[in-house]
Amino acid sequence: MVGGGVRDLLAGLEPKDFDIATSAHPEQIRKLFRSCRLVGRRFLIAHVRFGDEIAEVTTFRGPITDSHERDETGRILSDNVYGTLEADAFRRDFTINALYYDIRDFSIVDFAGGVEDMRLRRLRLIGDPELRYREDPVRMLRAVRIANKLKFDIDHASAEPITRLASLLREIPPARLFDELLKIFLSRDASANLDGLRRYGLFSHLLPLTDEALESDPGAAALVHRALLNTAERITRGAPVTPAFLFAALLWPAYAKRVEQISREQGHAPAIAQVQAAEEVIAHQQLRIAIPKRFSMPMREIWGLQPRFVNRSGGRAKRLLTHPRFRAAYDFLLLRAQSGEPGTVELADWWTQAQVGGDPGSLPLPPEAVANETAEPGNTGPRKKRRRRGGRNRRKSGAEAADIAPGAGDADGDFDDGADS
Ligand code: ATP
Ligand code: MG
Repeated sequence: MVGGGVRDLLAGLEPKDFDIATSAHPEQIRKLFRSCRLVGRRFLIAHVRFGDEIAEVTTFRGPITDSHERDETGRILSDNVYGTLEADAFRRDFTINALYYDIRDFSIVDFAGGVEDMRLRRLRLIGDPELRYREDPVRMLRAVRIANKLKFDIDHASAEPITRLASLLREIPPARLFDELLKIFLSRDASANLDGLRRYGLFSHLLPLTDEALESDPGAAALVHRALLNTAERITRGAPVTPAFLFAALLWPAYAKRVEQISREQGHAPAIAQVQAAEEVIAHQQLRIAIPKRFSMPMREIWGLQPRFVNRSGGRAKRLLTHPRFRAAYDFLLLRAQSGEPGTVELADWWTQAQVGGDPGSLPLPPEAVANETAEPGNTGPRKKRRRRGGRNRRKSGAEAADIAPGAGDADGDFDDGADS
């Protein structure tokens, strides 16, 4: 056994999963275990299932040689040379990730000084840090995440090159970065991870629009941190967390700002501005992080439903209460209120009441709730025009409008209809 499982046990934490290293080749592993599946592109990994658990089994990797294919930045592209246990240890990223628990005699096998670093509570790369980050820039993200998880310090020599090399993250395929981001943010340490990524200049290469918003807008920082704290709290009590909600929060400040800009500069009706802003923000984000459509669609719905919380007259409130995405959208409204977004606290209270109070028609409506069609900040177009659109084409506002939007410019593929019907 190797990697996070051994490390976390030694640190007194409960391991998330178990990684196994072996001299057996993938085909041999497959013959031994009926429940084995071979996965992975850069190198083959055997997933062996035991009940609900999956053990990741990897064959000892051999030393890096000239035969390893690299790109011009030094990144290793293919990696299927097998080696000995000792060679495998030096291919791992941090010393504390290269500790092997040998079940033959219950000993810890340590080639890289990981036991000492555990004792010193220090995260240290094996080998020359710059070279190791160049081989695989994702190690910079792992450094921040694992240090926060264990509350260890990153060793000075391992920390020093990160800011300088941060832009190498641009070479990493967006799908791999998506997986890494989930580990970073669907975590109890989400908030500390965000701070760490920003401190080392890594974050701007992952979520540039969010980074910009955090730099310039205290409201954005409040919302994002609140979202990450809520996520951590849910994980602690075992409640489900969804990437759609997380990304909705991370990208909301950029989205809201863009809605406001488009309405102001191009004079579009709110519903049109919302669809266009969502497309632009998502397309921009997809260049870095590949957010699968099964998450980006509900994310747009969460955004698209926000304006519909404002107008509560007639049967609208009742219809919204039965919307399949109501719960997530309401939670998002609460998040906006908790983070102090102007005008949302009264709204959130009203919807909380509406859910416990039965008939929303019996709740008092403040006068502006009937007049405003949208809660987007800065939607200041002429009131008459908005009201007319709202009346004539009510069912095409917000997320519903997304369903009829032209597919052009939509980075995450064509629209499914029915997502909001
Ligand atoms: P956790 O499972 O808590 O996220 P982990 O360290 O176990 O942390 P995994 O992705 O499961 O992370 O990787 C298992 C082991 O594989 C690591 O402990 C490390 O030894 C090795 N490893 C993972 N990613 C890399 C990498 N990018 N470069 C070198 N070795 C790596
Ligand atoms: Mg692991």
